[in-house]
Amino acid sequence: MTLQLTTPYSIRIGIVGAGTMGSGIALVALLADMQVTLYDVSPQVLDRAREYIATHLTRKNKQSNSANLLLTNRLEDFSGSGIVIEAIPENLELKQGLFRQLDTICPPPAILATNTSTLSVTAIAAATEHPQRVAGMHFFNPAPVMPLIEVVHGAQTAPETTRTLLTLTEKLNKTPVTVGDTPGFIVNRVARPFYGEALRILGEGVASHEQIDLLVRKGAGFRMGPFQLMDLIGIDVNLSATQSMYEQTFGEPRYRPHPIQTRMVQQNALGRKTRRGFYRYDIEPDVEPKPPQPRKSNGTVLLGHGSWSPGLEEIVRSAGYSVQSATSTSISTPAIGIALSGIKDGMMNQLIELDRIIPEDAPLLCQCADVTLSEAATWIERPERLVGFDGLFFKGGQAVSLIANPSPNPNILSVVEEFMIGLGRIPLWIEDSPGLILPRIICMLSNEAAFAVQEGVAEGEQIDLAMRLGANYPHGPLAWAKELGYAHVVAVLDHLRNEFGEDRYRSAYLLRRWARL
Ligand code: NAD
Repeated sequence: MTLQLTTPYSIRIGIVGAGTMGSGIALVALLADMQVTLYDVSPQVLDRAREYIATHLTRKNKQSNSANLLLTNRLEDFSGSGIVIEAIPENLELKQGLFRQLDTICPPPAILATNTSTLSVTAIAAATEHPQRVAGMHFFNPAPVMPLIEVVHGAQTAPETTRTLLTLTEKLNKTPVTVGDTPGFIVNRVARPFYGEALRILGEGVASHEQIDLLVRKGAGFRMGPFQLMDLIGIDVNLSATQSMYEQTFGEPRYRPHPIQTRMVQQNALGRKTRRGFYRYDIEPDVEPKPPQPRKSNGTVLLGHGSWSPGLEEIVRSAGYSVQSATSTSISTPAIGIALSGIKDGMMNQLIELDRIIPEDAPLLCQCADVTLSEAATWIERPERLVGFDGLFFKGGQAVSLIANPSPNPNILSVVEEFMIGLGRIPLWIEDSPGLILPRIICMLSNEAAFAVQEGVAEGEQIDLAMRLGANYPHGPLAWAKELGYAHVVAVLDHLRNEFGEDRYRSAYLLRRWARL
């Protein structure tokens, strides 16, 4: 069954569907000097695809390769293709009907691949007489730009089929990851919390969608915030991917769709394509706040102990402060105290100690990843000077979320805001809530990745690679968990589960095991 891919011209690739993905995949294959047959039911779509492909081949100085392209509306033209990739709409019956036809038109050893994002490859293959030569080949949008392809083996896919598609992926100058046939494969599955938690945070009134996006980009280094990305993907497309995951897993609470998305679909606010989604695209966009220039200050900052204190100490010192540890024997009058422990008991001890040492009018900052500010406020004598912050801000971030006590001292709030601006951070005031924004989203991404490893979907390294290349994440979610500390990630998840009382926040057993190790 193995197809020989020894020379660039040795096989003709067939592509069914010349829409967004099909035309992009055809371009990728032509750029790799392959021969391509591209089919669609719509003559207008074929015309658009021809124009798109010609423009991009010319831009890459490969215009002569357009001779390798055959555009057709006859499925029979696939009879000479060694590999056919399907990219028609995401509908199981439609895809099964097509595969049934292809099964006869392209007899083995030809390979049939589907670009489905969320459907079962096994179910699509079941429509054919030869399911062993059917697999998934999941490209990312835009196909010519995104370097990743998920090669999905269905329950009956033969190893040679997977091997041939891995070879083809390399010939297309893409990076493959192999993945089992589970809902959402790697990228669409592991990315679910990016949208799902952002929607929950918005729905709970913790922060606005603009604040969440800003924090996710400037605080954690993502290229786009979850609401910007949902607007780009299409809110209807994003909702149906979530619904499909939820249904295929018989109601896994981590994938439960959010009513905000349903309401937006009902009013046709689908994102960029309807000029209105979470953002408006028919008016000038708001000017994005720039991170302030760090400025030199003076004064003493009293820092509690935590694994992140060296990183924070460096930032605080470079802004001109002198830094003292809460355990120093002779403490000068501090302008501000910061409690940083990654463990709740440690945090309580630090807050009690700092509350005792620092002057009454000095702010006390508390890292609120696995404790809410309202709970921390019950531990100390002067809660009106307590301000919560999001603990990831010193990992190269440029934005920080801040939480005020319900009856704050206004002077304290302005001192804290000035302090953050002095450190070169954009301060964003949000409501008190479990896990705030970044700890909640990032720990849930890591948890989802750990569940995927635990369930044998793919190896951890492959998952991290897929999330960086397929979704442009700044770090792989498992590498991130390791850097943050598995115990810390589990603590944030346990905190979310306790506060919300929902199974959605249960941690993967594997994370707990890594935390113990
Ligand atoms: P699209 O709507 O842009 O294109 C689908 C094309 O299929 C249309 O041109 C349509 O005319 C054609 N078509 C419809 N029925 C057909 C049939 N029976 N035979 C042949 N052609 C037919 O859709 P798309 O965004 O390119 O998505 C295609 C597939 O790729 C879907 O399974 C989708 O889930 C998957 N996918 C999409 C993206 C994305 O971001 N758009 C990313 C990865 C995977």
